[in-house]
Amino acid sequence: MQYKDYYQILGLKRGASQDEIKSAYRKLARKYHPDLKPGDKEAEKRFKEINEANAVLSKSDSRKKYDTLGSNWERVSQDQDFARQYYSPGRPGTGGQFDFGDMSDFFGTFFGGEDIASGIFGGGCGGARTRAQRGQDVEQSLAITLEESFHGTNRLFQMQIPSACPACGGQGMVMQQRQRGMVTSTPCPQCRGQGQTTSTRQIKVKIPRGVTNGSRIRLAGQGGPGASGGPAGDLFLIINLTSHDFFEILDRNLKCEIPVMAHEALLGTKVELKTLAGQVNLKIPAGTQSGTVLKLKNQGLPYPKGKKRGDLLATIKITIPKSLTAKEKKLMEEFRKLREGKDKK
Ligand SMILES: [Zn+2]
Repeated sequence: MQYKDYYQILGLKRGASQDEIKSAYRKLARKYHPDLKPGDKEAEKRFKEINEANAVLSKSDSRKKYDTLGSNWERVSQDQDFARQYYSPGRPGTGGQFDFGDMSDFFGTFFGGEDIASGIFGGGCGGARTRAQRGQDVEQSLAITLEESFHGTNRLFQMQIPSACPACGGQGMVMQQRQRGMVTSTPCPQCRGQGQTTSTRQIKVKIPRGVTNGSRIRLAGQGGPGASGGPAGDLFLIINLTSHDFFEILDRNLKCEIPVMAHEALLGTKVELKTLAGQVNLKIPAGTQSGTVLKLKNQGLPYPKGKKRGDLLATIKITIPKSLTAKEKKLMEEFRKLREGKDKK
């Protein structure tokens, strides 16, 4: 018996995702389809191998079994007790709709008696069982303002959710029994082999306080519908926090600039600052330098599930008047004289 490297057959690496397996299978199944290459024995052989690889790798439980077989496969196949304990031994022909004689010994030994054979090859053959499949997870980005993140909000929107094509159960291919024991597949006419259609769904969601850029909100069961009685997938909203005119967002902390006139910085003053939480009165002490950072604790974005918040870092930016009146100029010159005299001492 020959070991079958199903990943290699599909041109994939061991860690390939289910999507990669699905798309590699579709691509190759179309390429080597016997209808396209009548009489080509090599293409027919490849086509069978591809179907076999897909039958095993497209289902998570049979794929897991295949992955754990690994280098032990020979021992497993020889040790019948071991095999019986961990793997269903092959029972060729039990699928009813499908002749396992078309499959390799390797497949027959380890997966032949399994549900997957009838699940995969049964579709389209009429009345055969199909495996319940969990729906696809869907990701959608959602733009949120800083104010919405601070207070939390409710959103109502519409989006397109992929759904499994009902004609082919999301497989993209429909199986047809051409002759006794020989099953072939053709691209599904309804979805043109894509396996998917889309539907519009209204989504209502409560956005909790403190979501930040890249936060993920999971809406269980709101993704693509399952096939053959399987559960729906999940919808993940990926938060995109939009930039703000006044506040710069640094994770949970916020940054802003407070412009202060030179004479105010010299003599000291009070400023009113509008934060997300409301208005605060800031005391700018006499002699405050440009670039001084005032840390306003707890005025940043809230942390999820808690009362704690980040800080607001306000940088003082000293500005000077662009022009002076005659009197102001006279006073400033006087100030300079005093200042220079003082400095010489
Ligand atoms: Zn279809």
